Amino acid sequence: MVDAGPGEDAWNLGLDALLASQALLPRLIINTHTHADHCGSNSYFIRKYRARVACTPLEALRAKQPIVEPMMIFGAVPPENLMTKFFLFEPFEAITLFKLSGTGSKAVYTVEPGGFSEHRFHGIDVQVVSLPGHTPGHIGVGKDGVLFVGDALIPQAALVTNPIPIYWDASTAIKTLVVLKDFVNKRTYETLICAHGGKLVDPLNDLETVLKRVRDVLQTLVERADEGDMTLDSAMEVLARRWRMNLVAPTEYFLVRSAVLSYLAYLTDLKILRMVVNKSRLQWLPSTKRNSFEEIISQEMVAKG
Ligand SMILES: [Zn+2]
Repeated sequence: MVDAGPGEDAWNLGLDALLASQALLPRLIINTHTHADHCGSNSYFIRKYRARVACTPLEALRAKQPIVEPMMIFGAVPPENLMTKFFLFEPFEAITLFKLSGTGSKAVYTVEPGGFSEHRFHGIDVQVVSLPGHTPGHIGVGKDGVLFVGDALIPQAALVTNPIPIYWDASTAIKTLVVLKDFVNKRTYETLICAHGGKLVDPLNDLETVLKRVRDVLQTLVERADEGDMTLDSAMEVLARRWRMNLVAPTEYFLVRSAVLSYLAYLTDLKILRMVVNKSRLQWLPSTKRNSFEEIISQEMVAKG
């Protein structure tokens, strides 16, 4: 099973009945990532069927200690109204996929976007494909030309309600989207299945649309920075205005805020913006030795090699 679901009782019972109707036993759950809406149901299937769980080491950290998610997203121990099932789930142990790469303090258990490993689980051959960005250790699961992409790609229809694609790492998320485009173009995988939206009829169209949205978000931030005195709140305001986004719940606010920070971090690393603290205010300003946004972003959004 790839991603068990959000852990609500009705969901668990419905999925359980569906599996029973197909005479299927959930022996192994592969989690694309450990967001609560993907792994909240794990504990139900672990308890009932002794199912095991596999995910990448970075995701397994959160599996063991789900409380780190609201702490990461808030930046401190948050107030109680962020400690909800939107972020939290029952902890579980997971078998970890992928090996350690890099050395010293920056060593991480990860594989570059598009890197993969072959596995045989209970007699079933699958590819585990690295698709980081939405979360640091996000993976896809491939079989027979079909790739389950989890949240690495949201279908373009979802941009209506979620206009800002949610990434922990916008830089890597773009590489992942470019890799997915390459997969479809080269027919490595012809069918992409999203966690939120199912099988895509025209995956290239969705990939192009989401990449364009990412580019538009970045460009909007660069233009706002050019006007001067861009704080995180003013960055969020300009994006909310442009895409008529009306955040009302603190959970949603902090999720989008983390995504906006990832876009700002990306522009800072590209030396298009610089982050300064001025009279105790954090601001993003145009970089003094300004790299050209158009030039860089066009290179970033093209498949390498
Ligand atoms: Zn997610």
